[in-house]
Amino acid sequence: MPAKPQPETAGALPDDAARIMAKAALFAPPPARLADGRRDLVGLTREELAAEVAAIGEAPFRAKQIWHWIYHQGETDFARMTTMAKPMRDKLAENFVVGRPETVVAQTSTDETRKFLFRFRDGQEAETVYIPDPEGDRGAVCLSSQVGCTLSCSFCHTGTQRLMRNLGVTEIVGQFMAARDSYGEWPSPKGETPRLLSTIVLMGMGEPLYNYDNVARAMRIVMDGEGIALSRRRITLSTSGVVPMMDRAGTELGVNLAVSLHAVRDELRDELVPLNRKYPIAELIAACRRYPAASNARRITFEYVMLKGINDSEADARLLVELIAGLPAKVNLIPFNPWPGSAYETSTPAAIRRFASIVMDAGYAAPVRTPRGQDILAACGQLKTETVLARGGRA
Ligand code: SF4
Repeated sequence: MPAKPQPETAGALPDDAARIMAKAALFAPPPARLADGRRDLVGLTREELAAEVAAIGEAPFRAKQIWHWIYHQGETDFARMTTMAKPMRDKLAENFVVGRPETVVAQTSTDETRKFLFRFRDGQEAETVYIPDPEGDRGAVCLSSQVGCTLSCSFCHTGTQRLMRNLGVTEIVGQFMAARDSYGEWPSPKGETPRLLSTIVLMGMGEPLYNYDNVARAMRIVMDGEGIALSRRRITLSTSGVVPMMDRAGTELGVNLAVSLHAVRDELRDELVPLNRKYPIAELIAACRRYPAASNARRITFEYVMLKGINDSEADARLLVELIAGLPAKVNLIPFNPWPGSAYETSTPAAIRRFASIVMDAGYAAPVRTPRGQDILAACGQLKTETVLARGGRA
């Protein structure tokens, strides 16, 4: 009997997804609870919030009110939640907090990029960056999903910090809320009302698909229409190519996808993005082709760091357009930002121009990313590493 045709998803992938989820559990964040036993309400789903409210003997509709105060008004003090009577507010304050990560550093660049180093309850720290759009009153908040990273991409400064743990829902949502506090952007603007913090990119420290559960829950909270209400179209998840989880993120969250490609030949990508040895380029591109949320209006972004003499040849540019042929895609070219001890140099402006024009001639947008916030340690992972070193620790 002829073999049954296999679906495009490789047979081992569901097992791989289970393995990834099991590994994520080993790096689970600590419970979002204070030493005095009070629970942080930030990061609970609506159902979990209702259960906490029920556990202190209050009616379910209170959870809806509290949700509105937390995520629409941005209120952190129960005493100011004035739609509830004082005894109720006191009871809430006895049992709960509405927390934020502690801001260790907040620096604003001459180009208005603002970087935050946030500290969480167990002392772990992660970076968040707000990148304003020079063309209008809007911008992207780049969130971290892990403290450190396991993937050791050879050009990446964050990759030099070993993985300490995954960030919890409270901490992922908390980064966005604390960044909003810093711009006074509460209450949440409705619909298309302009707001500075208008998009989220999951491109900070860590690989979000190695912390899928917490990332997914956090994104559902920021998308909830009665709170922060950010549309899925305004959220971009960036992955180095965790193929089995890409399918899941596309189906369950439907957010935009960015892929850290950086090389178009397996032998080079194996070196630059070692995860490629597990999920090689052909598998990665196949996962992009079946990504459900991609369309001409919502193109997949391929991130490509420009490394002098390594991945910036005309032949590489031609291979790139062959690889992504037919995909709704754009290519972000990122001039490499050297960091102490890095083995690479940035491509020459002429090489970047040649590369971009080959990609553009094939019909794809190929913007060259302007380095942002260089005066305040721009490279991803740099702020945390430098802060740790300044305290006399090891990065
Ligand atoms: S590029 Fe991303 S996935 Fe790779 S080491 Fe850096 S933070 Fe980790």
